[in-house]
Amino acid sequence: MTEQENALKAAWSSHPREWENNTWVYPVISRRAGGLSVGINLNPDHHCSFSCAYCQSGPQEGHKRIPVDVEAVERELRAFLTFYQSGDFAKCKAYENVPDQNKVLKDLCLSGDGESTIVKEFPEICRRMRQIQKEFSPVIGDFKLRLITNASHLESTTVQEGLSLLLESDGEIWAKLDAGTEEWFKKINRSPLHLEKILDNLTAAIKRYPICIQTMVCNLQGEIPNDAEIERYIENLKKIHNVRPGNLVEVQLYTVIRDPLLKGVEALPKEFLESVKTKITDALPVKVRCF
Ligand code: SF4
Repeated sequence: MTEQENALKAAWSSHPREWENNTWVYPVISRRAGGLSVGINLNPDHHCSFSCAYCQSGPQEGHKRIPVDVEAVERELRAFLTFYQSGDFAKCKAYENVPDQNKVLKDLCLSGDGESTIVKEFPEICRRMRQIQKEFSPVIGDFKLRLITNASHLESTTVQEGLSLLLESDGEIWAKLDAGTEEWFKKINRSPLHLEKILDNLTAAIKRYPICIQTMVCNLQGEIPNDAEIERYIENLKKIHNVRPGNLVEVQLYTVIRDPLLKGVEALPKEFLESVKTKITDALPVKVRCF
């Protein structure tokens, strides 16, 4: 492996939320986004509507609530994009051996230590991100606006209001769907909500927006998704796809990379993910990538 390949691999597997003295905004070299992704973490307090067994953000309990400072989010975003525009990000020591094409800005992405859509400032943040996209795109090149979400609150009126701004110009939702059955949903996502609600939200959202489905496939304390679970999961994918096939951008299958805090949650081999991919592509005309 060359030095550049090693540096890229290291950058892909390390996604720290820290950047300078920022609270809300952090850059990552993202394999899935295909370049530089600027993350916006509206939940540094780890507040989330799920409590996934594999969560790497750590437990939600024990964190003091941190109200979102909208002005500070905007300030940090503008400061980072100005830094990027100057060319200094491409030269920065932490990523000096990462190939230049992997340091090209691909998106501003609402993604962090919890669920962005449960924050009451969500619509205002979306409005400001869209404004920043309008101002910076002509100068630094096109980039997308993305929301990474567990889909638990997509039906809310205020979330809808935010999404209609955030996604009005080629934006995308990257939504979690980890289960085929309520039983596996409870084990893996450990939410008081029901899988049916998540599916209702996804089938409603795909009518309006391009969606990428992200699915965690892992060993949960000795239990792995069996054939029946995978079959039901693919049925769920079909329901979403059939609403508006052109809006299902892709399915991303991934497994555990770093050790989650919960003991006994482990990665599954690449062959397992590839076998799920084959089952999906046999059933549906959709792009699937394994990570
Ligand atoms: S939805 Fe994301 S942040 Fe929330 S518990 Fe699951 S993995 Fe963690």
